[in-house]
Amino acid sequence: MMKNNADVVIIGAGINGCALAYELSKRGKDVIVLDRRHIAAGATGRCGAGIRQQWSTKENAILAKKSVEIFENLSNELNYDIGFRQGGYLIAIHDENDMQQAKKNVEMQKSIGLDVRIIDADEIKEIVPILEPKGMEAIGATFCPTDGHADPFKTAYGYAMAAIKQGARFYKFTEVKKIRVKDNEIKSVVTDRGEIKTGVVVNAAGAWSKQVAKMAGIELPNKPVRKEALVTEPIKRIFDAMVISFRHGIYFSQMEEGQILGGIPSPEEKTGYHTEPTFSFLQRMAYMLGKYAPVLKSINVMRQWTGYYDVTPDALPILGKTSIEGFIQCNGFSGHGFMISPMVARLLAQLINDEKLDLPIERLSINRFKGKVFKEKSVVG
Ligand SMILES: Cc1cc2nc3c(=O)[nH]c(=O)nc-3n(C[C@H](O)[C@H](O)[C@H](O)COP(=O)(O)OP(=O)(O)OC[C@H]3O[C@@H](n4cnc5c(N)ncnc54)[C@H](O)[C@@H]3O)c2cc1C
Repeated sequence: MMKNNADVVIIGAGINGCALAYELSKRGKDVIVLDRRHIAAGATGRCGAGIRQQWSTKENAILAKKSVEIFENLSNELNYDIGFRQGGYLIAIHDENDMQQAKKNVEMQKSIGLDVRIIDADEIKEIVPILEPKGMEAIGATFCPTDGHADPFKTAYGYAMAAIKQGARFYKFTEVKKIRVKDNEIKSVVTDRGEIKTGVVVNAAGAWSKQVAKMAGIELPNKPVRKEALVTEPIKRIFDAMVISFRHGIYFSQMEEGQILGGIPSPEEKTGYHTEPTFSFLQRMAYMLGKYAPVLKSINVMRQWTGYYDVTPDALPILGKTSIEGFIQCNGFSGHGFMISPMVARLLAQLINDEKLDLPIERLSINRFKGKVFKEKSVVG
């Protein structure tokens, strides 16, 4: 039997819904998480597992840095190994224009205390020996050794299990159909299994957040965009860093078990709910991977898949309150909702629990779209 009331109802059991359920239940809140499928069924279970603090906007960089501080101890905190490791992110610099932007980024990143530096082509090869700087068309790179990876499935499940121990309830295969609002306040959530009375609803529905927001009469600018990724056969462990290029859109790294996991924007990439994988993605990825690391030219691809980015006009998330009392946004994560989830969850739990926030989040509220928006530049695709 489904419980019919809660302090907070979270819609979506992706990494953000699970992490928030943990932070809220830790604070004694009675929490229900609803998902029409299961834990990590959305973008979370399809993600590249990367955790990067090297961003061009201070908002993303601080959220990621604070999240890394949480990730560093998260396996202990959740009593569950989330597979966190810090092999760094190596971001290609292709020409003088890139170099100018990289210098600006590094200056800002250093100002918030990040250990990051610009390296030359020789050092690229020292850090990832299989890379070919000429093939990459790289004159250098930025490198941050505390960037890294964690397992998105294990992280989401780790958070969910810890939340359940603290009293949170997860109802899977339960779809939210309506949000009841009266006198501008949240009253309840109607699902295909019954109604739950609550004063607080969190919209953590990933690429479906726009539809969920509409249920409460709120318009979000988010768009779902299909992204593709692949994983190869496992090979001997060769490198630890994630390699990325904003110009070529490619990212790849070697997983714990030896596989290469990566992606690149497909020539057929489109907005909307399209799940079909494309051959042109495979071709482009194979071509670019071969240029970056010629030794990987003959590696076998085991699997490719698709998922959605929940993209906002400035590639920054939408967090916090709306004009409807009790309706909280936790979406619009574009391509980086996994890496910032620990800090996002902490901040939203503080907001919902009327605590002082560790960081201000007003600049990430939905109200920012009324004015001029400044787009995050450090995005792939
Ligand atoms: C190919 C790819 C690679 C990526 N690589 C990275 C990376 O390296 N690092 C990184 O940080 N991020 C990456 N991302 C982005 C990251 O995966 C997402 O930003 C993050 O997982 C979003 O998590 P979420 O919890 O907000 O949403 P989701 O994981 O999408 O979860 C939303 C959930 O809401 C549920 N839902 C929707 N509507 C309803 C409804 N009406 N009722 C009930 N439930 C509903 C869905 O079933 C889903 O489970 C990548 C994404 C993709 C697709």
